[in-house]
Amino acid sequence: MSKTTISEASALDNEETGSLYETARQQFSRAATVMELDDSVRSILEQPKNEVIVNFPVRMDDGRHLMFRGYRIQHNNILGPYKGGMRYHPDVNLDEVKALAAWMTFKSALAGIPFGGGKGGISCRPWELSSEEQMRLTRRFTHSLGTNIGPDYDIPAPDVGTNAQHMVWMMDTYLNSVNAHDRNRGRAVVTGKTLTCGGSEGRDKATGQGVCFAVEFWAQARGLTVSNLTIAIQGFGNVGCFAARIASAMGAKVVAIQDHTGAVANPSGIDVEALKAHSDKTGGLGGFDAADDIDAEAFWATECDAMIPAAIENQLTSARARRLQTKVVVEGANGPTTIRAEQVLKERDIEIIPDILANGGGVIVSFFEWIQNRNCERWEVKLIDRRLRRMMMRSWALVTEAAEQHDCDSRTAAYIVALQRLQDAYAERGIFP
Ligand code: GLU
Repeated sequence: MSKTTISEASALDNEETGSLYETARQQFSRAATVMELDDSVRSILEQPKNEVIVNFPVRMDDGRHLMFRGYRIQHNNILGPYKGGMRYHPDVNLDEVKALAAWMTFKSALAGIPFGGGKGGISCRPWELSSEEQMRLTRRFTHSLGTNIGPDYDIPAPDVGTNAQHMVWMMDTYLNSVNAHDRNRGRAVVTGKTLTCGGSEGRDKATGQGVCFAVEFWAQARGLTVSNLTIAIQGFGNVGCFAARIASAMGAKVVAIQDHTGAVANPSGIDVEALKAHSDKTGGLGGFDAADDIDAEAFWATECDAMIPAAIENQLTSARARRLQTKVVVEGANGPTTIRAEQVLKERDIEIIPDILANGGGVIVSFFEWIQNRNCERWEVKLIDRRLRRMMMRSWALVTEAAEQHDCDSRTAAYIVALQRLQDAYAERGIFP
């Protein structure tokens, strides 16, 4: 076999991590073919319903005005209002947001919650913006979106680069544009808010918590318990950090963690709380004395039972998939595995718990927050955890059943459960006119 040259290899990499929407489309298409999805439903779901792009000025602290571009892609709302996060990251672009919006449609449908799918964001470097600049950016973006969002229409949430504070700014800006009598109920325009401003208990940890439930179900199905597992996690933001904390509280050994600042490993288990304190203090993972600094690429070869990519998309490439020494990949991030990497995992008999199942905890607890806002209720975290676990267990069982019935991989099975619900809704409602 001839050797691949460096330029050929980088062309392959580019091709592999090229269009994220193409990745989503291929995953969708595979499942649609296996389940023989109705052709009309297939063509409807192949593209988003609405693509909103807004350009707007924001005043910087030095008095200059810079133009920013914001997106809100509304993929589908047959099952309920568009729902999904707002991402602040330099890589945000139309193709990426379209893929993320489509995944939200399938994630909500799989979870069985009455939401559709949407996603948005701004291409920016939030870490270079002051808090005041981020506030003006968020308020101006929300204002530009106008009636494209609403508690019964399209409901944003946090995602990469945004948090509860951004959601509160969004809510406040939106509420200032509605009639005073609609302001209480209008709080449900976004989820993932602070507790003081109408957020839900357990929403901050929800995605990480759900990832750990998925690991627990996977272990149970193999006669194992989480407390016997070793885990490696890529990402130490909201999802990765909570997954690490909760997994170690459940007794698992977190043996390696990587983020954009570096990677650390300790085969006897990392003290996650101490690492978090170190990272908050120093701004990175490196130099933590209770673990070894390791090479970012060596991280992927960590020997472990479960590898959890919990950062951003396209991190698990085919080259990295070949180096993995794990039994299962649990997708905490959206779209972390490329199509080629998935092929490698299949060849190597490494299982995948797909993103739309594994990271559904975030949107499920967003649903709980939305209900609490509408009913003026406050649920305790114990109740939230119990309901989240039950809903995820139900999805897990349906995915397992679909995989057996259609003799297919877990991602295809998860899509089939979601697509079946979407297809049923179209069949019952009919396609207008
Ligand atoms: N951004 C999260 C996700 O990708 C949460 C979305 C939500 O809560 O609406 O699933």
